[in-house]
Amino acid sequence: MTDELDATIYYDDDADATYLDGKTVAVLGYGSQGHAHAQNLADSGVDVVVGLREDSASRAAAEDDGLEVATPVEAAAAADIVSVLVPDTVQPSVYEAIEDELEPGDTLQFAHGFNIHYNQIQPAEDVDVTMVAPKSPGHLVRRNYQADQGTPGLVAVYQNTTDEAKEEALAYAKAIGCTRAGVVETTFREETETDLFGEQAVLCGGVTSLVKTGYETLVDAGYSPEMAYFECLNELKLIVDLMYEGGLGGMWDSVSDTAEFGGLTRGDVIVDDHAREQMEEVLEQVQNGTFAREWIVENQAGRPSYQQLREAEKSHDIEVVGEELRGLFAWAEEESSESEGEDE
Ligand code: NAD
Ligand code: MG
Ligand code: MG
Ligand code: MG
Ligand code: MG
Repeated sequence: MTDELDATIYYDDDADATYLDGKTVAVLGYGSQGHAHAQNLADSGVDVVVGLREDSASRAAAEDDGLEVATPVEAAAAADIVSVLVPDTVQPSVYEAIEDELEPGDTLQFAHGFNIHYNQIQPAEDVDVTMVAPKSPGHLVRRNYQADQGTPGLVAVYQNTTDEAKEEALAYAKAIGCTRAGVVETTFREETETDLFGEQAVLCGGVTSLVKTGYETLVDAGYSPEMAYFECLNELKLIVDLMYEGGLGGMWDSVSDTAEFGGLTRGDVIVDDHAREQMEEVLEQVQNGTFAREWIVENQAGRPSYQQLREAEKSHDIEVVGEELRGLFAWAEEESSESEGEDE
């Protein structure tokens, strides 16, 4: 544990693996997170059963990986801890099916707080409800574990009937490799609201809009789409890598003084007070449940707006130009690595 930061962070030494002794974990779903949790748990010596529908395409994969597979109902019945790793939108119906298999003292565990926080799943009062959420896609959770490295994660307790909910969640976090890197203590509310805000305002929504608007501004002013693509999309990776490694300062140190002065004087002009007010509005819609309701209703209606928005995004000029350029890139890279090989 560290007291330097506001948040409490747990490492391997803070987690006691014996809280999983004699327990069986049901991992429902075998997608991005499910396959990683199930295999890491099994490799850590924990009894795991994967819960998948009879007709699930993932069954063969889980069996090939040497795991026991059952239906979600059978798996939940056999388990002390039910880790719900099916897509967030199908969790309520999967929960309905397995609800009766949860005995007093069992644990219902999540990797994201949406359904608990917005009351789409209302668990009985006699079960523990926890969250162990790796802050990374599942394939990295698996890869890092196999490389004896860790994946940072979050831990939260929503309901603690046994008095051991946090200890058990930390043991689970240890078994999937998260405490090797550090697990930050949070709440279902904080995790859900910051996750939704981050992906909407900055990571997924904000960045793509910034990229598209920058691209459109250059192309509308008569510059070539290829130049606009490289400047506004391709180079973003280099900048993000620098920020990931050394924060904003690391990035500012690496770019030219001209880029630094231009960025420092113009950045806040682009993301100005209006943008800040809009961010506050987006956050409010996350906090007051407006976004959650919109997404739930959208799913109930068969996702009409979602499909439409997806199609529009796919047909944006930057996607068409980008696909061509990336194709040339891949071809050029293949050529050069082939010729490098020949030289050796
Ligand atoms: P996913 O879409 O990759 O996998 C879902 C799996 O669920 C499928 O492979 C399938 O095996 C199964 N499934 C689908 N429908 C089902 C049904 N009706 N009944 C039973 N099984 C069904 O999901 P994911 O991205 O791993 O997300 C799982 C949870 O992890 C979510 O709560 C998500 O928010 C959270 N999470 C995901 C990530 C990530 O990077 N993917 C990161 C942190 C947390
Ligand atoms: Mg049980
Ligand atoms: Mg329990
Ligand atoms: Mg998210
Ligand atoms: Mg430049």
